[in-house]
Amino acid sequence: MIRKIICQLCMVIAVTILGYTCLNYEMAIEEQKALEEEINERKYAVPDIELEKISDTQIKVRDKIVQYENVSDDTLKWYADQIEKCPDYLLSTVDEIHIVTRERLLELKPESKSTTIGFHKHYGTYSIVVLSEYKTTDRTVFLHEAIHAYDAQYEITDSPEFQSIYQAEGLEYDERAKNIKEYFAYSYTDYLTHDFNRSKYPQTTEFYKKLDQE
Ligand SMILES: [Zn+2]
Repeated sequence: MIRKIICQLCMVIAVTILGYTCLNYEMAIEEQKALEEEINERKYAVPDIELEKISDTQIKVRDKIVQYENVSDDTLKWYADQIEKCPDYLLSTVDEIHIVTRERLLELKPESKSTTIGFHKHYGTYSIVVLSEYKTTDRTVFLHEAIHAYDAQYEITDSPEFQSIYQAEGLEYDERAKNIKEYFAYSYTDYLTHDFNRSKYPQTTEFYKKLDQE
Protein backbone atom coordinates (compact mmCIF):
# COMPACT_ATOMS: atom_id res chain seq x y z
CA MET A 1 0.00 0.00 0.00
CA ILE A 2 2.71 2.46 1.02
CA ARG A 3 4.70 1.45 -2.01
CA LYS A 4 1.73 2.24 -4.22
CA ILE A 5 1.34 5.70 -2.68
CA ILE A 6 5.03 6.42 -3.08
CA CYS A 7 4.82 5.28 -6.68
CA GLN A 8 1.87 7.58 -7.39
CA LEU A 9 3.62 10.44 -5.63
CA CYS A 10 6.68 9.89 -7.79
CA MET A 11 4.52 9.98 -10.90
CA VAL A 12 2.95 13.26 -9.83
CA ILE A 13 6.37 14.80 -9.19
CA ALA A 14 7.70 13.52 -12.51
CA VAL A 15 4.74 14.91 -14.45
CA THR A 16 5.04 18.26 -12.65
CA ILE A 17 8.75 18.54 -13.44
CA LEU A 18 8.16 17.56 -17.06
CA GLY A 19 5.36 20.12 -17.42
CA TYR A 20 7.44 22.83 -15.86
CA THR A 21 10.40 22.06 -18.11
CA CYS A 22 8.19 22.20 -21.21
CA LEU A 23 6.78 25.56 -20.13
CA ASN A 24 10.25 26.92 -19.56
CA TYR A 25 11.38 25.61 -22.90
CA GLU A 26 8.48 27.33 -24.67
CA MET A 27 9.22 30.57 -22.89
CA ALA A 28 12.85 30.32 -23.92
CA ILE A 29 11.80 29.87 -27.55
CA GLU A 30 9.49 32.90 -27.33
CA GLU A 31 12.27 34.98 -25.84
CA GLN A 32 14.68 33.80 -28.51
CA LYS A 33 12.17 34.78 -31.22
CA ALA A 34 11.63 38.23 -29.74
CA LEU A 35 15.38 38.75 -29.54
CA GLU A 36 15.86 37.67 -33.16
CA GLU A 37 13.09 40.05 -34.27
CA GLU A 38 14.71 42.89 -32.38
CA ILE A 39 18.11 42.17 -33.93
CA ASN A 40 16.49 42.02 -37.36
CA GLU A 41 14.72 45.33 -36.82
CA ARG A 42 17.97 46.91 -35.75
CA LYS A 43 19.69 45.62 -38.88
CA TYR A 44 17.19 47.41 -41.08
CA ALA A 45 16.71 50.44 -38.81
CA VAL A 46 16.81 53.72 -40.71
CA PRO A 47 19.44 56.10 -39.29
CA ASP A 48 17.93 58.91 -37.27
CA ILE A 49 19.39 61.86 -39.18
CA GLU A 50 18.11 65.09 -40.72
CA LEU A 51 18.15 65.35 -44.48
CA GLU A 52 19.42 68.56 -45.98
CA LYS A 53 17.20 68.80 -49.04
CA ILE A 54 18.22 71.37 -51.61
CA SER A 55 15.55 70.53 -54.17
CA ASP A 56 13.26 67.68 -55.20
CA THR A 57 16.22 65.90 -56.70
CA GLN A 58 19.15 66.94 -54.54
CA ILE A 59 20.33 66.58 -50.97
CA LYS A 60 23.52 67.87 -49.46
CA VAL A 61 25.64 65.51 -47.40
CA ARG A 62 28.75 67.05 -45.91
CA ASP A 63 29.89 69.22 -48.79
CA LYS A 64 28.62 66.90 -51.47
CA ILE A 65 25.54 67.39 -53.60
CA VAL A 66 23.80 64.04 -53.98
CA GLN A 67 21.32 63.54 -56.83
CA TYR A 68 18.25 61.40 -56.28
CA GLU A 69 15.14 60.37 -58.14
CA ASN A 70 11.92 58.68 -57.00
CA VAL A 71 13.26 57.23 -53.77
CA SER A 72 11.90 57.52 -50.23
CA ASP A 73 13.36 59.69 -47.48
CA ASP A 74 14.26 56.49 -45.64
CA THR A 75 16.42 55.42 -48.56
CA LEU A 76 18.06 58.85 -48.61
CA LYS A 77 18.74 58.63 -44.88
CA TRP A 78 20.09 55.11 -45.27
CA TYR A 79 22.74 56.32 -47.72
CA ALA A 80 23.30 59.82 -46.30
CA ASP A 81 24.47 58.10 -43.12
CA GLN A 82 26.92 55.95 -45.08
CA ILE A 83 28.28 58.96 -46.99
CA GLU A 84 28.54 60.84 -43.71
CA LYS A 85 30.72 58.10 -42.21
CA CYS A 86 32.98 57.62 -45.24
CA PRO A 87 36.60 58.70 -44.64
CA ASP A 88 37.45 62.02 -46.34
CA TYR A 89 40.26 60.71 -48.52
CA LEU A 90 37.87 58.16 -50.08
CA LEU A 91 34.89 60.49 -50.38
CA SER A 92 36.99 63.11 -52.13
CA THR A 93 37.61 60.72 -55.05
CA VAL A 94 33.86 60.43 -55.76
CA ASP A 95 32.64 63.19 -58.11
CA GLU A 96 28.96 62.31 -58.50
CA ILE A 97 26.56 60.34 -56.32
CA HIS A 98 23.12 59.20 -57.51
CA ILE A 99 20.46 57.44 -55.45
CA VAL A 100 17.89 55.79 -57.69
CA THR A 101 15.21 53.11 -57.80
CA ARG A 102 16.10 49.52 -58.46
CA GLU A 103 14.52 49.74 -61.94
CA ARG A 104 16.61 52.77 -62.80
CA LEU A 105 19.78 51.03 -61.65
CA LEU A 106 19.01 48.12 -63.97
CA GLU A 107 18.44 50.58 -66.82
CA LEU A 108 21.76 52.28 -66.14
CA LYS A 109 23.60 49.00 -65.77
CA PRO A 110 21.72 46.21 -67.55
CA GLU A 111 24.47 43.68 -66.79
CA SER A 112 23.77 44.06 -63.04
CA LYS A 113 23.35 40.87 -61.07
CA SER A 114 20.42 40.20 -58.74
CA THR A 115 22.71 41.09 -55.85
CA THR A 116 23.91 44.41 -57.28
CA ILE A 117 22.91 47.27 -54.98
CA GLY A 118 25.19 49.98 -56.30
CA PHE A 119 27.96 50.46 -58.81
CA HIS A 120 30.87 52.67 -59.65
CA LYS A 121 31.86 54.00 -63.02
CA HIS A 122 34.79 56.17 -63.93
CA TYR A 123 35.82 58.23 -66.89
CA GLY A 124 39.53 58.73 -66.43
CA THR A 125 39.65 59.92 -62.83
CA TYR A 126 36.06 61.25 -62.85
CA SER A 127 34.03 58.87 -60.72
CA ILE A 128 30.30 58.31 -60.51
CA VAL A 129 28.64 56.18 -57.84
CA VAL A 130 25.07 54.95 -58.29
CA LEU A 131 23.19 53.51 -55.30
CA SER A 132 19.78 51.87 -55.38
CA GLU A 133 16.87 51.54 -52.95
CA TYR A 134 17.34 47.76 -52.98
CA LYS A 135 16.42 46.40 -49.54
CA THR A 136 19.52 45.25 -47.74
CA THR A 137 21.07 45.24 -44.30
CA ASP A 138 24.47 46.07 -45.75
CA ARG A 139 25.60 49.49 -44.53
CA THR A 140 28.90 49.43 -46.38
CA VAL A 141 27.57 49.80 -49.93
CA PHE A 142 28.73 53.39 -50.38
CA LEU A 143 32.09 52.71 -48.73
CA HIS A 144 32.65 49.82 -51.15
CA GLU A 145 31.91 52.00 -54.19
CA ALA A 146 34.02 54.89 -52.85
CA ILE A 147 36.93 52.46 -52.56
CA HIS A 148 36.50 51.61 -56.25
CA ALA A 149 36.58 55.35 -57.00
CA TYR A 150 39.74 55.71 -54.91
CA ASP A 151 41.26 52.79 -56.80
CA ALA A 152 40.38 54.41 -60.14
CA GLN A 153 42.06 57.62 -59.07
CA TYR A 154 45.20 56.22 -57.46
CA GLU A 155 45.50 53.00 -59.49
CA ILE A 156 46.03 50.84 -56.41
CA THR A 157 45.13 47.58 -58.11
CA ASP A 158 47.39 48.39 -61.08
CA SER A 159 50.42 48.70 -58.83
CA PRO A 160 52.90 45.79 -58.78
CA GLU A 161 52.94 45.97 -54.98
CA PHE A 162 49.23 45.35 -54.60
CA GLN A 163 49.21 42.79 -57.40
CA SER A 164 51.76 40.70 -55.55
CA ILE A 165 49.73 41.04 -52.34
CA TYR A 166 46.67 39.86 -54.22
CA GLN A 167 48.52 36.81 -55.54
CA ALA A 168 49.73 35.96 -52.04
CA GLU A 169 46.59 36.63 -50.02
CA GLY A 170 43.64 37.66 -52.16
CA LEU A 171 42.84 34.64 -54.31
CA GLU A 172 41.06 32.72 -51.57
CA TYR A 173 39.70 35.69 -49.65
CA ASP A 174 35.98 35.56 -50.23
CA GLU A 175 33.72 34.34 -53.02
CA ARG A 176 32.53 37.92 -53.67
CA ALA A 177 36.10 39.05 -54.26
CA LYS A 178 36.37 37.44 -57.66
CA ASN A 179 39.12 39.69 -59.04
CA ILE A 180 41.76 42.09 -57.77
CA LYS A 181 39.48 45.14 -57.86
CA GLU A 182 36.81 43.37 -55.82
CA TYR A 183 39.45 41.99 -53.47
CA PHE A 184 40.57 45.55 -52.79
CA ALA A 185 37.02 46.87 -52.36
CA TYR A 186 35.76 44.06 -50.11
CA SER A 187 38.84 43.53 -47.99
CA TYR A 188 39.51 47.25 -47.51
CA THR A 189 35.87 47.74 -46.49
CA ASP A 190 36.29 44.90 -44.01
CA TYR A 191 39.53 46.45 -42.78
CA LEU A 192 37.92 49.86 -42.23
CA THR A 193 34.89 48.38 -40.48
CA HIS A 194 37.09 46.24 -38.20
CA ASP A 195 35.85 43.03 -39.74
CA PHE A 196 39.22 41.93 -41.07
CA ASN A 197 41.43 39.07 -39.95
CA ARG A 198 44.75 40.92 -39.71
CA SER A 199 46.87 37.94 -38.75
CA LYS A 200 45.56 35.86 -41.65
CA TYR A 201 46.33 38.59 -44.21
CA PRO A 202 49.51 40.30 -42.91
CA GLN A 203 50.69 41.81 -46.22
CA THR A 204 47.27 43.26 -46.98
CA THR A 205 47.10 44.62 -43.44
CA GLU A 206 50.48 46.37 -43.74
CA PHE A 207 49.42 47.89 -47.04
CA TYR A 208 46.12 49.14 -45.61
CA LYS A 209 47.78 50.60 -42.54
CA LYS A 210 49.73 52.91 -44.84
CA LEU A 211 46.65 53.76 -46.95
CA ASP A 212 44.51 54.66 -43.95
CA GLN A 213 47.11 57.14 -42.70
CA GLU A 214 46.98 59.19 -45.87
ZN1 LIG B 1 32.67 46.16 -56.24
